[in-house]
Amino acid sequence: MDKIGETTLLIDLAALEHNYRFLKTKLAAQTKFLAVVKAFAYGNDMVVIAKKMQALGTDYFAVAYVKEGILLREAGITAPILILHPQPVNFSETIEHCLEPSLYSPKILHSFLKVAEEKNQTDYPVHIKFNTGLNRLGFLKNDIDFIADKLKNTKALKVASIFSHLAASEDLSEKAFSQKQIAGFNNISNKLKQKLGYSPFRHILNTSGILNYPEAQFEMVRSGIGLYGYGNDKIFEEQLKPVASLKTIISQIHEIAPNESVGYNRAFTSKNYRRTATLPLGHADGIGRQYGNKRGHVNINGKSAPIIGNVCMDMIMIDVTGIDCEEGDEVLIFGPNKSAEDFAASANTISYEILTAISPRVKRVVTNL
Ligand SMILES: *Cc1c(COP(=O)(O)O)cnc(C)c1O
Repeated sequence: MDKIGETTLLIDLAALEHNYRFLKTKLAAQTKFLAVVKAFAYGNDMVVIAKKMQALGTDYFAVAYVKEGILLREAGITAPILILHPQPVNFSETIEHCLEPSLYSPKILHSFLKVAEEKNQTDYPVHIKFNTGLNRLGFLKNDIDFIADKLKNTKALKVASIFSHLAASEDLSEKAFSQKQIAGFNNISNKLKQKLGYSPFRHILNTSGILNYPEAQFEMVRSGIGLYGYGNDKIFEEQLKPVASLKTIISQIHEIAPNESVGYNRAFTSKNYRRTATLPLGHADGIGRQYGNKRGHVNINGKSAPIIGNVCMDMIMIDVTGIDCEEGDEVLIFGPNKSAEDFAASANTISYEILTAISPRVKRVVTNL
């Protein structure tokens, strides 16, 4: 890789492949693998990641919204795509692009069934989502008869899978709760299978679920964050490789005298002589204001430097006093050996948020294609 020259998110496809193979070691050979590529594949470029995952043989993809699924289809992704959170306004397009909706409520089931019948579909694949304790989206156990009746009286739809989502799969102090969700899901899915008279495949595990409850892998698992190199646990993160590295360069260096201030609202004031560097990325690039005022740290030539003062829209200033560096030098915000999880923790958030926050204006460069 040549010098980056400007703020760049490097996307390492060899790391993606490594993470996929690592996650597969936790699974039985016949267990299907769904790659979660919503939110631009957690900020990494949805099309690039999906093409690589398709080449690696992933069985399924999932995105949150129909428009994300359409982008994948337009890019030539042919594998099945589960839409986790569709809305009725998009159901016509859902069918036109062969996208498979999660049906999570009576209202959504009714409205998708209506569109599928109007479009003369037979056995259109849908996925029935149950709420087993997250209380976010999903049918309840009491809806089983309703679902089975609806589906028995139509040829338009066929249940491809039954699924649910764990509320605290990364938190081992909630093990009893997770196990209760898994047992409840097993029970619900068996009942629905019986009523339908056929066997859709089942799935409940996300990345932390795969790592902590591999015995509940059923016929498929869904992984997002693990593919991108994070596992909500240091033990697993040692075995995973970050796909994304966010790098920038120093635009300008300033020598700051005592009692001067740096940045908007004079949020940083110097007690003594400081050397500061200005970097070309700010809250419009995804580095929120909560990283300012010495919470977030970046790496320059192997040394850690705090972000000082307020984060601007297009810039941050860092304190490089005592660090051997000059204008044009490369700066690492997060990546291998500087975990996005730790960077996020400095601002009281999680890797998921900082990864998905990196805005489209940041240049993406794919490595190890
Ligand atoms: C986002 C999402 C996932 C992926 O979770 P990770 O923790 O990133 O593996 C899986 N299932 C559902 C329903 C999701 O919304």
